[in-house]
Amino acid sequence: MNIILFGPPGAGKGTQAKKLVEFYNIPQISTGDILRANLREGTKLGLAAREYMDKGELVPDEVLIGIIKNRLKEDDCENGFMLDGYPRTVPQADALAGILEEIEKPIDIVLNFEVPDEALVSRIGGRLMCKCGASYHKTFNPPKEEGICDACGAEVYQRADDTEEAVKNRLDVYKNQTQPLIDYYEKMDLLKTLDGTKDIEVVFEDIKAILAEFA
Ligand code: ADP
Ligand code: AMP
Repeated sequence: MNIILFGPPGAGKGTQAKKLVEFYNIPQISTGDILRANLREGTKLGLAAREYMDKGELVPDEVLIGIIKNRLKEDDCENGFMLDGYPRTVPQADALAGILEEIEKPIDIVLNFEVPDEALVSRIGGRLMCKCGASYHKTFNPPKEEGICDACGAEVYQRADDTEEAVKNRLDVYKNQTQPLIDYYEKMDLLKTLDGTKDIEVVFEDIKAILAEFA
């Protein structure tokens, strides 16, 4: 199963990805998580990406294409993968098509999470992240023990780019640069849109029902 989780920031892609990883035993490839890990480790890539990420802008395509090209060739992608946060531009989608053709792993489905802007803003405003990639919400999905990640026990934190200013910019960037990919994948007959406003467990059930035909 080769899946793209698609949708605006805050739509619930990362939350569902973590559940799907356990259920289907295929890796989540979150470009946001990869960039944040580089930031934490202070790599050259992380330092270069920081200025874009803090402002809510996209990191240049060639950087992301390089990351994805290497990651998809790793052994754990052999039986499938879930892309989360990539592609975000038409050039990224074109590059992905080329990479996947080369490694003979076509995309099976693009799951498009639909959530209105007001909900996205309140989700992102209350988001708590863990360095392991787990995502919580102060009200909608709090960790069992306050401030501590259920999955790995580390402290959860608010992302530096989850500020009101950066969120506004990220939603604009999504509309201008990423949303055109809905048409792109619709034309390829790969797009499946789902209602991302439902409860986390309900969205998970909906996704499993959609994916059942590939399992
Ligand atoms: P994305 O990866 O698409 O940016 P996340 O999975 O990090 O989004 O979710 C954004 C925020 O919304 C997090 O705080 C998460 O706990 C919360 N969230 C995710 N799915 C839902 C849902 N179905 N209902 C309410 N809140 C949700
Ligand atoms: P995310 O965790 O998906 O919300 O991504 C956080 C930030 O990382 C984005 O606002 C961008 O600055 C950067 N980023 C993540 N994925 C991409 C991508 N595919 N293309 C460009 N920038 C990205």
